[in-house]
Amino acid sequence: SQTRYISKESCSDWFQSTSSNGYYIVPILGAHGVGKKTLKKCFMNSDCMSAMTLSVGDSKEKILTTVVNNGESNIDFIDFSVCEVHNDDLQADAYVVVFSVHNRESFTKAEELLYQLRNDIDSDRPIILVANKIDLVRKRHVKYKEALKLAKEFRCKYVETSAVLNYKIDDLLVGLLFQIKLKLNLELA
Ligand code: GDP
Repeated sequence: SQTRYISKESCSDWFQSTSSNGYYIVPILGAHGVGKKTLKKCFMNSDCMSAMTLSVGDSKEKILTTVVNNGESNIDFIDFSVCEVHNDDLQADAYVVVFSVHNRESFTKAEELLYQLRNDIDSDRPIILVANKIDLVRKRHVKYKEALKLAKEFRCKYVETSAVLNYKIDDLLVGLLFQIKLKLNLELA
């Protein structure tokens, strides 16, 4: 059934106005140990992802058509284990910048990365700031409000996830694709 592949909460209405096909490159940036590899694994196993990357002719085609309005998308996640970003290295469509809510240093690192992306690299690509490990409620050191403030300051979307609990991963993916397509549509307009 439809809900097997796409959860309604995370995917309904997101793609209604977009129709472009695409292959996108999205580096995942952040300090060591914040959960980049785990997130990537979640992305690849996500029901949303499998719907996005299905090829036409499959029995799941109908679902794809409904959900992405004929626009099939592949997202290639690059996992950068080092935090430094250099101008020549990347031709990204969007960036995911991750920190862990239980590690303030990783939040500082995320801020540095956002600064680099927006100023040094001068990127106006969509960026999603991801607060990961929100399952570690009692060890949380970075508050929702301050992280949201940082995201706003650098014109990013903000999502709180738990990669180990697979919490909000689909929202992140769908939001990411939506941001990429929105940006591309704006550029084409
Ligand atoms: P990376 O260095 O940024 O790629 O981080 P990893 O994906 O290798 O994760 C580092 C450690 O954090 C591993 O032990 C993961 O199992 C753990 N981890 C990743 N995501 C979460 C999460 O959402 N919650 C918790 N509690 N642990 C996580």
